[in-house]
Amino acid sequence: MNENIVKGNEIKGKFVVESLKRRGFEAEYVSNREEALKRILEIIPKDATVGIPGTVTIREIGAMDALQERGNKIFQHWGQMSKEERRLARFKENEADVFLTSANAITQDGEIINIDGTGNRVAGMAWGNGLVLFVVGINKISFDLTDGIKRARSATIPNAVRQNEMTACRKAGHCVKCLDEASMCRAILILEQAVKERNYHVILVGENLGY
Ligand code: SF4
Repeated sequence: MNENIVKGNEIKGKFVVESLKRRGFEAEYVSNREEALKRILEIIPKDATVGIPGTVTIREIGAMDALQERGNKIFQHWGQMSKEERRLARFKENEADVFLTSANAITQDGEIINIDGTGNRVAGMAWGNGLVLFVVGINKISFDLTDGIKRARSATIPNAVRQNEMTACRKAGHCVKCLDEASMCRAILILEQAVKERNYHVILVGENLGY
């Protein structure tokens, strides 16, 4: 990556880390996915159970494989499973010792934004059983809440392709604020501060990750 971009990302990322800290989130900046993976493996105890919801970022950086290889029990709902198995897996993800996820957007001011179709991911973020560990690429930083919600909705088209859902935005090429059966935008969570009695840690990564 161009060194000016590396430095620029660091300046932006460190500013957002301070914004997150003001809102009660533990937060840190790392410059790339390798450092992010190292920190994930340091932060999560080797004997912890880990719930990983539908997140591309966590899989992109290899955290799923690395955690499994060293013996962490993983709960997830990707891949071939029945509807009932998927439903139960989502509950187990939220009950795990660590809920490991990304976010759709983080504002410069430190608000964390997520849009969800099923509700399991936003539930885990607000009421996860143990540590909620976010790993978020620099591409998710947004100017303000309006910008962040737009950014979150823009992730729906690639997510619809991944999940083989024919959403209205996939057909139109942009969000049409649908209320369709296929809608993947049914619940929005804005974490304005660390929720009481929850533990949060945000690793902000100086490269593009996820959608
Ligand atoms: S068109 Fe519907 S599913 Fe697509 S981003 Fe907009 S609200 Fe979400």
